[in-house]
Amino acid sequence: MLEGKNALITGSTGGIGGAFASALADKGCNIMLNGFGAPQEIEKLRTAVEAKGVRCAYSPADLAKPAEIGQMMRATEAALGSVDILINNAVVRYLHPVEEFPAAEWDQAMAVNVSAAFHTIRLAIPGMRKRNWGRIINMGSIHSMRARENRIDYVTAKHAVIGITKTVALELAQTGITCNALQPGWVLTQHGERIIADQMARSGSSREDAIRTLQEARQPSRRFVALEEVAALAVFLCSDAAASITGATISIDGGWSAAS
Ligand code: NAD
Repeated sequence: MLEGKNALITGSTGGIGGAFASALADKGCNIMLNGFGAPQEIEKLRTAVEAKGVRCAYSPADLAKPAEIGQMMRATEAALGSVDILINNAVVRYLHPVEEFPAAEWDQAMAVNVSAAFHTIRLAIPGMRKRNWGRIINMGSIHSMRARENRIDYVTAKHAVIGITKTVALELAQTGITCNALQPGWVLTQHGERIIADQMARSGSSREDAIRTLQEARQPSRRFVALEEVAALAVFLCSDAAASITGATISIDGGWSAAS
């Protein structure tokens, strides 16, 4: 049923966004990629997605700039025909205690991690309403429920994303458009690699020991959530079987949120 649907995935030049692109393309969706990175790497990803037999385009829009978000939405419609599936996945992360948090970094985090989702959603809805079909997935996090020191931007943004998700779901409840949020625990992407490297530097431990220590403080499963597992959940939410799931916040965190 996803064959021929068009999916715009923000922040899909790597990490979880790249996994969404790959998994949706496997189901026959055409893909608009977005995000930053080395041009040759992005082109490699674009051709790899296209090799699955779908169309795949790329928008370099900077999501901190609403005008560029507008361009990306129009470019998606021009390249693919519509935005049927929208995944708000892009993220920036900073790390400071609140009293030292640079105001410019706060503004950037709110723009990319919160306002961009508002803009993409408001621009995608008119077309989805016309077709009476749409799937909006917003990336929350374990930090949509749990705070963490030195991450006020991320924790605030991930809580806000849940507010966006629930409000949009209510406004669209009597249409064929759903809006949900995924709340992953720890998925190993570039960000996680940095956390592991910091732990190794701090403790002088091996990579395996650093991961064990970090996992013990987080996920009861003691393993990373796999990229493919998060992507498979998104594919399910895009299916007809998930038509009544809307306004939901779905944890995929190896038991992290269940622990006290
Ligand atoms: P990542 O850091 O690997 O990728 C982030 C993407 O956002 C990149 O493609 C980057 O280029 C893009 N981006 C950053 N600023 C941008 C801007 N101004 N305009 C356009 N694109 C921009 O991220 P990830 O770890 O794959 O996480 C993806 C999503 O999943 C995020 O919303 C994150 O909060 C959420 N999440 C991740 C984890 C995890 O453990 N990795 C856990 C919970 C939630």
